[in-house]
Amino acid sequence: MKKTIITFARWGNYTIAFKTIFDQLGLEVIPPEPTNPTTIAEGAKISPEMYCFPLKTTLGNVLPGLRKGANTVFMVQNIGGSCRQRYYGAIQKKVLEENGHQVNFLDFRATPRDIYRTIKKISGASSWQIIRAARFFFKKLRLIEKIEKKAQFYRPREIKKGTTDQVLTESLTELEKLNKEKDFPRLRKEILKSFSEIETEKDKKIPRVALVGEIYTVCDPSINFDLESKLGKEGIEVHREMDITYHLKKLVFPWKDWTIQRKINPYLRSTVGGHGRDAIYEMLHYVKEDFDGIIHLLPFGCMPEVTVRPILEKIHLESGIPFLSLSLDEQVAEAGINTRLEAFIDVVRNHYNSKQ
Ligand code: SF4
Repeated sequence: MKKTIITFARWGNYTIAFKTIFDQLGLEVIPPEPTNPTTIAEGAKISPEMYCFPLKTTLGNVLPGLRKGANTVFMVQNIGGSCRQRYYGAIQKKVLEENGHQVNFLDFRATPRDIYRTIKKISGASSWQIIRAARFFFKKLRLIEKIEKKAQFYRPREIKKGTTDQVLTESLTELEKLNKEKDFPRLRKEILKSFSEIETEKDKKIPRVALVGEIYTVCDPSINFDLESKLGKEGIEVHREMDITYHLKKLVFPWKDWTIQRKINPYLRSTVGGHGRDAIYEMLHYVKEDFDGIIHLLPFGCMPEVTVRPILEKIHLESGIPFLSLSLDEQVAEAGINTRLEAFIDVVRNHYNSKQ
């Protein structure tokens, strides 16, 4: 039997945590290339044209790994879901085979037990090893989310421009290198200390903008042209609720969906798949919290987010909160995004100043 060599798609800073799982289980991994215009174009070229953008970019991520010898792709498939994501594995496997790559996809059914069984089968790891790998994964994941939030807070307040991004990059590099769980508390402490040492303008009052929309797009800076950093450098504090922890909480506490539905009932009385309902719920929350702007990010071809966009626009008209919806795909150029963002930032500042 051929040895399993895994590659997988990038997903922003979470890539670090995913790689840890495979390393800890002793699996051979060829990490994905950073997402860039070349990998995006390669993925888009062989993907079904009308499929949603993340399918194309993630396909582009795994191609270099397959060329370097990987024979297995970690792509969550058959795990349920309420949009086209549930077919990603099947479609990507077919596309890759049609393009000459014989590749296995890790096949998860919809239960944690099946995920456990699949991992055990391919890695041969003991139950204790799997538990430890999962624990280390979650520790890294939680720290990644924590420092991303810290960066959102520090960027607009930093005195020396660029310090926060430098601390964030160095922290993520150290976290990626860390392969012993016992060293995690020390590194965590050091990372949090370096953030606390960033010099800031104390008590600076600044506009707040929230990012809502599709989870992959809002969480991956290389997909959304690093919007959080761009806004932060313009003196705007960014908030984003959508991340893996948010998503997992909804899986563990299914009644959260019921709460969301109750809150958005005046606007939408059914599910639309994906995180469509969450975008409405989040926007209503940010309006209530008196934010100064909302940016809605969606991949081209994302049915849930396209469906809720008119509702978000309606909330924008009713409340007066500045609103910008950005649909991203392989055709979108950074220069175009920058122009729209500059105009939006002016509107946000005017809105903020009018309240002072
Ligand atoms: S949420 Fe949208 S972009 Fe993401 S997989 Fe579903 S349909 Fe595609």
